Amino acid sequence: MRRRKPLERRSELKAKKPWTRKVPLADPERPTAELVELENGMTLRRMPLAPRSAKQTALYVARRLLVRRLLEERPWCEIQWDDRCQGRSVDADEIVLRSQGGSILDEANLQTACRACHDAKHAHPNAAEARGVYRRGTHGEAA
Ligand SMILES: [Zn+2]
Repeated sequence: MRRRKPLERRSELKAKKPWTRKVPLADPERPTAELVELENGMTLRRMPLAPRSAKQTALYVARRLLVRRLLEERPWCEIQWDDRCQGRSVDADEIVLRSQGGSILDEANLQTACRACHDAKHAHPNAAEARGVYRRGTHGEAA
């Protein structure tokens, strides 16, 4: 019986192409759902809040610098509600609320206030409007 000559390799042995992943691993930066235990014993899967956008960050940086400057330039409470006024301003307050479309960066919409007057203004929107320290904006009701 005739034996066939063994097959011969036609090409050199060479290293295999490195294995590549076809489906990428989950992005480690990507937020994943977290489990939140409720008081009644149930568990919720909830996505964490998205990080603040660059645009929003820039807005708040500008706001912080503006508030710091305004409190230096206008150190005395501009609301002066009544004798509860503490004198020194510690807050920058929007005349038209940001929830009602007021700008938080427009100096013309800002007044400096002590905490007591600031609180009184927000607690009594009608009286505040009559005193000119509050104007209703375009969105919704007074907060
Ligand atoms: Zn005050």
